[in-house]
Amino acid sequence: MIKVVKFGGSSLASAEQFKKVGNIIRKEDTRRYVIPSAPGKRTPTDTKVTDMLYSCYRQAILEDDMEEDFEELLEAIKERYNSIIRGLELDLSLEEEFKIIKENFSKKAGRDYAASRGEYLNGIIMSKYLGYEFIDAAEVIFFDDEGEFDAEKTNEVLSERLASAERAVIPGFYGAMPDGKIKTFSRGGSDITGSIVAKAVHADLYENWTDVSGFLIADPRIIKNPKAIDVITYRELRELSYMGATVLHEDAIFPVRKEGIPINIRNTNMPEDKGTLIVEATCQKPRFTITGVAGKKDFASVTVEKAMMNSEVGFCKKVLEVFEQNGISIEHMPSGIDTMTIFVHQDEFEEKEQKVIAGIHRAVSPDVLELESDLALIAVVGRGMRATRGTSGRIFSALAHANVNVKMIDQGSSELNIIIGVRNHDFHAAIQAIYDIFVTTQI
Ligand code: ASP
Repeated sequence: MIKVVKFGGSSLASAEQFKKVGNIIRKEDTRRYVIPSAPGKRTPTDTKVTDMLYSCYRQAILEDDMEEDFEELLEAIKERYNSIIRGLELDLSLEEEFKIIKENFSKKAGRDYAASRGEYLNGIIMSKYLGYEFIDAAEVIFFDDEGEFDAEKTNEVLSERLASAERAVIPGFYGAMPDGKIKTFSRGGSDITGSIVAKAVHADLYENWTDVSGFLIADPRIIKNPKAIDVITYRELRELSYMGATVLHEDAIFPVRKEGIPINIRNTNMPEDKGTLIVEATCQKPRFTITGVAGKKDFASVTVEKAMMNSEVGFCKKVLEVFEQNGISIEHMPSGIDTMTIFVHQDEFEEKEQKVIAGIHRAVSPDVLELESDLALIAVVGRGMRATRGTSGRIFSALAHANVNVKMIDQGSSELNIIIGVRNHDFHAAIQAIYDIFVTTQI
């Protein structure tokens, strides 16, 4: 059994957090490959080391008179690491490393290089603390000349390299381009490194340790103490993340999904919690009918009505082209017999609305064209809905009880989700009503 374990920034923000991580890793012999992030926030008002590095580099590439600022910022970063080293009582000095970093900053080694040092240095500390081998991600994670991740080359080199490493620490977030230049993934990208490593070693499990006990059924800013999701499929996760529920970097799913490796989201501060298991498919019956509910506000809708539109070949295409020509992406598109409605982001749409209206008139001469704004979309997601009769009925009676007027309903043909449109000001009440009917009343 092999587990790849990735720890997020808040799990490694201080020596105390490092100790928790050490205990977790030592508890199971199978936790052989460790992917650290850079130190994150110790308190809500603290600054992540990655952000400190970005600001420091910004100063470094400004004119020379800012040199002092740059050195001061670099000192502050060094102190973050040194306090971890002191707290762990390690016999380790990063002086030489910081000398090199300072030189490279002065040589304008690049913003990505700068940011990557956060995970690089944390990796060095972690490997010393655990007694695991340190493998620089620049030697095993590759990007092509265009800066796109090179999955094939990475998998080849990485799996060979790790075959000879019984236990190793590989810093997250970055790799190297063919010319050796450091390149990072987008923010939160250590999740991706973890997934790539899990694939390369054919891990049985990819554990992603963070500061929450998994995905929650609903947004805790809306629902007080929502329950966590035990098991979620990749498809359900995709639906919920699209609606804004985020814990994991979206691109982290692809490498492990293709290998059938499950991801387990765990909480470093509550290691006894089982967290959420993300799987390709499962026979396990979900605890509740719904797996999760999430949503987004601030949509506008454009409804186009024309009698007999279904018999007009290319009608929808012509309407959609108007949006394309105006560079507006379409978020959702329910339709009726003689109507089609297009949901777009209000801020994107507002400045172009008159152009879009004119364009639709020209393209299809509709009978009626109606606009609405300040709408919210809510996705109720769950593989359990397929096998349960009356799910939509329950949703709508709950919403009616909560005095929420439903503007739109759309059930995906996979029966995995039901999307509901409501007014922005009904958004919270609607999520609360849905959560209560499927979760609170079922406990
Ligand atoms: N340290 C990087 C960030 O703050 C990458 C990561 O934590 O995954 O985005």
